[in-house]
Amino acid sequence: MSGEARFWEPLEKGKARCTACPHLCVIEEGREGICRARGVRDGRLECLVYARPATVVSDEIEKKPFYHFHPGTRALSLGTLGCNVRCLGCQNWQISHASAARGEAEKLSLLTPAHAVRMARKHKLAGIAWSYNDPAVWIEYVHDVCVAARQAGLYTALVTASYLTMEALDYVGPYLDAFKFDLKAPGAPGWSWLSKVRDPSPCFEMAVRAKMIHGCHVEVVSNIVPTMNDDDASLKAMAEWVADSLGPKTPWHVTRFLPDYELSYLKATPVQTLERGVEIGRGAGLKFVYVGNVPGHPATDTVCPSCGRTAIRRGERGAEQILVREGRCAACGEDLQVVPVGFRAD
Ligand SMILES: [Zn+2]
Repeated sequence: MSGEARFWEPLEKGKARCTACPHLCVIEEGREGICRARGVRDGRLECLVYARPATVVSDEIEKKPFYHFHPGTRALSLGTLGCNVRCLGCQNWQISHASAARGEAEKLSLLTPAHAVRMARKHKLAGIAWSYNDPAVWIEYVHDVCVAARQAGLYTALVTASYLTMEALDYVGPYLDAFKFDLKAPGAPGWSWLSKVRDPSPCFEMAVRAKMIHGCHVEVVSNIVPTMNDDDASLKAMAEWVADSLGPKTPWHVTRFLPDYELSYLKATPVQTLERGVEIGRGAGLKFVYVGNVPGHPATDTVCPSCGRTAIRRGERGAEQILVREGRCAACGEDLQVVPVGFRAD
């Protein structure tokens, strides 16, 4: 199984530049990039984690979270070692902040693209999702699995901070059905503090590109971190960006931050803050704003913005009742932009 990366350029003295994400790391022989999943070996850039998942689980698609995409289905969810965004409060830091170097990747079981698709079908899963760390670090593998998944009639979904180069996005975009953009903050100061991404403009651009150029179903999640992005101005700026750039029917999830890793000193987000986020989101024109990480909260249901009926009722384990027909409210016909159950990619 070849690990040679597709996105890189050779430089002088055996160095290489990785072009999978906008960090554009210049890497010396035997070293790795910021993500610790891509490194130079024998003068070539390798994706050290190609076909080496650290996490292989079956998840409800609502857990990603996707609320308007194949509600009630389960996906094979894959994550691996390393990450190109180094979030202080990462919930998956045990794998995302780990290094794939020094034989660590080889300790993980090999999962070829064909094997991943067979596994999904065997367990009657509807699709394949990439989450737990950022899929940018093994974009070549993501592409190869997406191609195989399409052929097998499975959907494909990416959970990402969207810190990708255009070449990397365009490589997988044609085979991608859904894209979840992790909108961390309204602008550079928040992104830089929280995730070490100094200039988040590529994140915003690639999320829009996924929708406009590649036709992906896009949902947005913002983890609301106390003292960081929980003020009214930040919430408003994020909501307005979603409404203006992706459209008012784009689902926006405002999720509860739970203390972890280097942000263990903060408290969990108060539910009232999330409810204010919902209000602010609606005020910005968004039709579907959801509260996340608060099981049983009423703002996890999909309510038709036209007739006010509950179109999708959710419990702790995903969608429980779906009153949606061909993406529309079953009661009044309003377009809820739900990619319907039964949809299959071409
Ligand atoms: Zn309705």
